[in-house]
Amino acid sequence: PERGVPLLAVEKARKQFGGLVAVNDVSFTVKAGEIVGLIGPNGAGKSTTFNLLTGVLPATTGEITLAGERIERSSARAIARRGVARTFQHVKLARQMTVLENVALGAHLRGRAGVVAAMLRLDRADETRLLGEATRQLDRVGLAAHLHKPATSLALGQQRVAEIARALCLDPQLLLLDEPAAGLRFAEKQQLAALLARLRDEGVSILLVEHDMDFVMKLTDHIVVLDFGKKIAEGPPATIAADPAVLEAYLGG
Ligand code: ADP
Ligand code: MG
Repeated sequence: PERGVPLLAVEKARKQFGGLVAVNDVSFTVKAGEIVGLIGPNGAGKSTTFNLLTGVLPATTGEITLAGERIERSSARAIARRGVARTFQHVKLARQMTVLENVALGAHLRGRAGVVAAMLRLDRADETRLLGEATRQLDRVGLAAHLHKPATSLALGQQRVAEIARALCLDPQLLLLDEPAAGLRFAEKQQLAALLARLRDEGVSILLVEHDMDFVMKLTDHIVVLDFGKKIAEGPPATIAADPAVLEAYLGG
């Protein structure tokens, strides 16, 4: 979709685990070309929201629309194919493989049933195509010099960026990032922020969960705040930073 047009529309999404309402009728929109922050204290429902958006968990009620198509009943695989890619809070790179192999294999496995089955079905042409795409995406994120190093020899910041390259192999319209800046050094955070801003400018919309407020405030175009499953505020960073309800949620306990 064109810049500024709603890409993802979440309408009264609800997820109950027995009596616990983890996501309580939450609505928000990610417009094409935006970086949106999803913030809130621990237990607020951020990860559960990501799981609803990626089809990992079915919503109890509510509507989720991606580029005009309803996806709240779609499988994780179908949603991935429609261009929603994610990274996880904890780095998931296989230590015995190179950066390139990790990114290529991750791209291949996305949405597939089993690792072994997927590997057995990988013929020579697939392999060449995957390695080519992985190389292209690693180059795009600035890791071209590290293709053949063991994945875990990279600094944490570079490993996070490699995971983003893996997600980019899907050619996503929307990238969901779960705490991409956690544990990174200041310089790494600055590099990551610059990369995400560039990806946005290249047309990848981003929804990110992040606890580092400085990172969120500087990078995002719009922020959605959850607390105990409910959306308590949303708006541009400057408004959110000064919102009494947001301060209360973080400080009030
Ligand atoms: P956040 O990511 O904002 O810290 P979560 O989405 O992980 O919050 O959790 C929201 C609430 O839902 C918490 O109270 C958590 O304990 C609960 N919860 C999350 N996943 C499950 C689950 N699979 N079963 C039961 N309760 C869950
Ligand atoms: Mg979480």
